Amino acid sequence: MSTTPPDPIRSTSSTAWPIMAAGAVGVLAIVAVALAARLDPLTAIAAGAAVAAATAICVFAADRSGEARYRELMRAAASRAGEQPPFASLVNALPDPILVVSATEPDDLTSRRYIFANAAARDLLRIERGEGLLVNAIRDPDVLDAVDRALFAGQDAECVYEGGGAQSRTLRTYARPLGLALDGRRLAVLVFRDETEIRQVERTRVDFLANASHELRTPLASLSGFIETLRGHAKDDASARERFLSIMQVQAARMSRLVDDLMSLSRIELGEHIAPADEVDLAACVSDVLDASAPIAERRGIKLKIKLPRQGAARARGDRDQLLQVIQNLVDNAMKYSPDGGVVEVALQAMLSPEAASAPYRPGAARLSLLGPDVPAPTYAALRVSDRGPGIPREHLPRLTERFYRVEGQKSGERSGSGLGLAIVKHIVNRHRGGMTVESVVGEGTTFTVYLPMRPSAKVASAAEVVAKVS
Ligand code: ADP
Repeated sequence: MSTTPPDPIRSTSSTAWPIMAAGAVGVLAIVAVALAARLDPLTAIAAGAAVAAATAICVFAADRSGEARYRELMRAAASRAGEQPPFASLVNALPDPILVVSATEPDDLTSRRYIFANAAARDLLRIERGEGLLVNAIRDPDVLDAVDRALFAGQDAECVYEGGGAQSRTLRTYARPLGLALDGRRLAVLVFRDETEIRQVERTRVDFLANASHELRTPLASLSGFIETLRGHAKDDASARERFLSIMQVQAARMSRLVDDLMSLSRIELGEHIAPADEVDLAACVSDVLDASAPIAERRGIKLKIKLPRQGAARARGDRDQLLQVIQNLVDNAMKYSPDGGVVEVALQAMLSPEAASAPYRPGAARLSLLGPDVPAPTYAALRVSDRGPGIPREHLPRLTERFYRVEGQKSGERSGSGLGLAIVKHIVNRHRGGMTVESVVGEGTTFTVYLPMRPSAKVASAAEVVAKVS
């Protein structure tokens, strides 16, 4: 209950002071008039009383208008003091959908009406008005049941609501009783909280764990099987032992590669928001990776065609080890998916404009940007790795950088992968504020391009120049 604090001015009696003032003026008037006009005392008293009465009337009149003004001010102040924040606009502006529901009869579904729907609720439920029949806005039985529990049992209730529409969304729905309206209707509020993203993250985590354990279990099962065989019937068979041990070595290497990739991915993700500070010579990095890959290429008769700028001409801000990993993964894939005797081209270009760096390279190929920089840098260095392997069908392109994603039916030759290579590449390039595209023609081959920001410089190649060079 609110009380108005006493006004210090008004707390003395509001009628006493005009009477006292009029009395004082009357006495002074009697004395003044008697002295000035030398009237007899009775006439002087009468004249003084008349002056005093006139003064009192004036004072009272002044007091009346002051009172009215005072009351007016008090009314304004009171209305300001009790003024509510603009609740309707406040609730309307909230991002969570909110609905106020009223109802009279539990058995009469048509008595349930929403009597307020904020902008987010109107958007979610695709309703135009802020008021209407509840079943016209929501048909989900779980939500209607939660509303009933709040309305008629006075209970808090919650459930999950799968919002329809082009992009299906999952919303946790809370129903809370609001008591009775003045006209006796029951009221409840319904609040929706969008959990789509949380659930997606959770699903990704569960899938990731399932995939990781599956990938580890396969070589582990094979190792266990061979250990059993070696201890059993192959115990005394020297040639079988040799064969099995070499298979076991491959499986153990596969497991350790998987564990390395998993660790590496989690390390990269941890530091992904911190841009690297060192300066890296990309041409030197590419040379190092190609030197290391040369023996495998030679063994499989793969020709490595290399186009590099002079050392020092393509410097980028980066983490050398991570960039080596990017180059290695792309070159490894190109060789892995190339037939024996195939050709892998590796080209590094410096000082490219953003358009030139991401320009199409293989005319007529299915093409997808797997990652684009948020804010384009003035100049880029672009690494292109092309092979003449089986290519990747268009529908698989968007999923290539998902963890453990593999294009079905593709043979990766002797070196099976972890399915994490391109995910690692994407996260490293993202940390470097770079971009990544893939172009592929089934039956002809694939080109991956990774472009990384360089320091600004005077001469920047345009996209048109790059396309001209390619075609
Ligand atoms: P993996 O270790 O299996 O190679 P990646 O993440 O590196 O995993 O690649 C994901 C999938 O993309 C591969 O399994 C393969 O199906 C496809 N892929 C990657 N690079 C190429 C390429 N150069 N040519 C054809 N397919 C490729």
